[in-house]
Amino acid sequence: MTSPVPDVSDDDFREILAQTRKFVRTAVVPRESEILSEDKVPDDLRDQAKAMGLFGYAIPQEWGGLGLNIVQDVELALELGYTSLALRSMFGTNNGIAGQVLVGFGTDEQKARWLEPIATGDAVASFALTEPGAGSNPSGLKTKAVRDGQDWVINGNKQYITNAPVADLFIVFARTRPADDNGPGIAVFLVPADTPGVEIGAKDAKMGQEGAWTSDVTFTDVRVGGDTLIGGSEDIGYRAAMTSLARGRIHIAALAVGSAQRALDESVGYAATATQGGAPIGGFQLVQAMLADQQTGVLAGRALVRDAAQKWLRNEDRRIAPSVAKLFCTEMAGKVADLAVQVHGGAGYMRGVPVERIYREVRLLRLYEGTSEIQRLIIGGGLVREAQRAL
Ligand SMILES: Cc1cc2nc3c(=O)[nH]c(=O)nc-3n(C[C@H](O)[C@H](O)[C@H](O)COP(=O)(O)OP(=O)(O)OC[C@H]3O[C@@H](n4cnc5c(N)ncnc54)[C@H](O)[C@@H]3O)c2cc1C
Repeated sequence: MTSPVPDVSDDDFREILAQTRKFVRTAVVPRESEILSEDKVPDDLRDQAKAMGLFGYAIPQEWGGLGLNIVQDVELALELGYTSLALRSMFGTNNGIAGQVLVGFGTDEQKARWLEPIATGDAVASFALTEPGAGSNPSGLKTKAVRDGQDWVINGNKQYITNAPVADLFIVFARTRPADDNGPGIAVFLVPADTPGVEIGAKDAKMGQEGAWTSDVTFTDVRVGGDTLIGGSEDIGYRAAMTSLARGRIHIAALAVGSAQRALDESVGYAATATQGGAPIGGFQLVQAMLADQQTGVLAGRALVRDAAQKWLRNEDRRIAPSVAKLFCTEMAGKVADLAVQVHGGAGYMRGVPVERIYREVRLLRLYEGTSEIQRLIIGGGLVREAQRAL
């Protein structure tokens, strides 16, 4: 089976990738300490990212985005992972979990209203699925949407919502009926952040990823029009969430490989120059073994995530391969970052040393968009179901 023709030609994509790499390495890397200490991506970097089209790199060109496909998305994420993950998070929800729900499931009117401001970065979209007690198992969510004439009235609490403190639009998952034989009864709505009854909580104090913000969002008698029901159907929500999350897993896997590459480069640079007893620590074979394990993980992860993206593009596997890639690459990045701290010795534990930041930042990648345990359930359960279907 051949790959579909991408929206973006190879030449144009090479240029986008080169510009992104240059932006990351020459403009953002030198500002990492500032992002960390200010807990904010500086406005001038945000403006540059906006001008480069990064808020809409995965939004189709007909809606004002760059139109990268998932294979190209992976190459871009490998670059974005090389610096503070807050940079990617700033436009990650627009391109990923939130934006893809609209791209995949919105009506033409909904796309026309929202996708262009999302693609340009004039609007920030947040994906509001997780609730207390409904994270790994979102089918148990309790936020309710009740029909009232032409409108819907939404009540409920969401937690850990990325970009909520700066969001203009929430993609809100809410139950319209109890789960039954027809499905989980979950719909998804477009809720502008300034709708009366939407309350954004204080910014969460997180372990890492300074500059990337999350918070609770509470919906109290939030009234929205019938035209805000995504896809015009009450039964789209759960499928939309699962599809968007599965695609996002490939992106997160690539991001993890990018971070691991940076941790490796920092480790090699340190090992080649730092000395003990007058000799470079890179001369010690046990240090070389750590570098070898890091390099092996990075190369394996990169090959795996590229393969998973090809399988997605060809519609060969949109369920097991994304979970395999996320599971392996995010666990690998955790191990590589841990080894990076080890290679640095005491310096690796000090604020301001890149590997200390990376160690904390990549920890999140094993938690959101499905924990490692959930990926294992998807992979293992999927394999067994495939075997049973073949009987
Ligand atoms: C910084 C950050 C940003 C986030 N951004 C967003 C966002 O933008 N939008 C959004 O909707 N959500 C977001 N989330 C939520 C995130 O997706 C959830 O935290 C995650 O899915 C885990 O859910 P939970 O926190 O409820 O943990 P739980 O589901 O309670 O998990 C606790 C432990 O139990 C395990 N576990 C749970 N169920 C099973 C099972 N069936 N079998 C085996 N083990 C199981 C888990 O793997 C984990 O180890 C974010 C979270 C964080 C921390």
